[in-house]
Amino acid sequence: MQQFRKFMEGRNGSDQLLFALLIIYWPFSLAARFTGIRIFDSLALACLVFAIFRFLSKNKERRRAENQQFLQLWQPFARWAGQYLRRIREFKTHRYFKCPGCNQTLRLPAGKGKITIRCPKCDTTFDKRT
Ligand SMILES: [Zn+2]
Repeated sequence: MQQFRKFMEGRNGSDQLLFALLIIYWPFSLAARFTGIRIFDSLALACLVFAIFRFLSKNKERRRAENQQFLQLWQPFARWAGQYLRRIREFKTHRYFKCPGCNQTLRLPAGKGKITIRCPKCDTTFDKRT
């Protein structure tokens, strides 16, 4: 353990981009196995090699900048996925509606019957069953 710690001293180690590369590796690897198309094998190998390179790299500043770029690209998708998962989790307790006036998403408690909804953003009112 001490030797490994000494070996990793000054190296980048793991970050979000490393985990993303390792996750991306699997679909490429499986696609290569089931379709026999060699480009998938090459892409899987490229992901793995780049992940290992980043893990062992001593140029921390450059790796950190790459990780930041990745996070900026990833953030909109992560936000969308988070909202989607929240809707699934709250399926029994809440309903989501789009305001016809301003397209704002409104979250309301479920099971209240037919109600009149007033948008807090643009004051448009509309009827919906929750
Ligand atoms: Zn509105």
